[in-house]
Amino acid sequence: MPEFQNPVAGFGVTFKAMFKKRLTEQYPEEKKPTAPRFHGRHQLNRHPDGLEKCIGCELCAWACPADAIYVEGADNTAEERYSPGERYGRVYQINYLRCILCGLCVEACPTRALTMTNEYELADKSRESLIYTKEELLAGLEETMVDSPHAIYPGMTEKDYYNGLVTEAAPGTVRQVAVSKGEQRPSETSAPASGKEVQS
Ligand code: SF4
Ligand code: SF4
Repeated sequence: MPEFQNPVAGFGVTFKAMFKKRLTEQYPEEKKPTAPRFHGRHQLNRHPDGLEKCIGCELCAWACPADAIYVEGADNTAEERYSPGERYGRVYQINYLRCILCGLCVEACPTRALTMTNEYELADKSRESLIYTKEELLAGLEETMVDSPHAIYPGMTEKDYYNGLVTEAAPGTVRQVAVSKGEQRPSETSAPASGKEVQS
């Protein structure tokens, strides 16, 4: 009798599987570490003094096959400096509803500002929350860093930053006022004297 007509043989795979070790993963209670080079959520990196590596060039956005990245660059000024060079990324967004985590944007970035972490838990309940902003993507501050914006390390150039000559924030570095983000300088926050009296 041909084997496909044998009703017992049809259960062969089932019986074999019954005695194999179970492969059930207890996610999310138990999380398995990913491969070291796993493509997860992106990160916008900083220089060792806290200035941002992104120069707002948009090459990552052009390289993206899913049109998931939106960048708007702007000029640094002496009073509000986010990166060592001329330009910085003023607006930076990645839409994780579109992103396929291919990593082409990372390959395109000329400053290694953009890299990928191993974080893969990117599900959420709304479309808006899956559009990550610059603030969400920016790397956290380490001990040697002062949050941007702040002045460039005295005596150093943009090239020196990329040559690794800046290893920490210069002593006395303080964060500048982020006017482009709507922050006001102390002189602007005090209400101007109008001379007008409030009538009761
Ligand atoms: S990982 Fe790929 S799809 Fe995602 S933002 Fe980068 S280039 Fe676009
Ligand atoms: S992340 Fe890199 S490629 Fe993208 S805008 Fe910034 S510097 Fe340019």
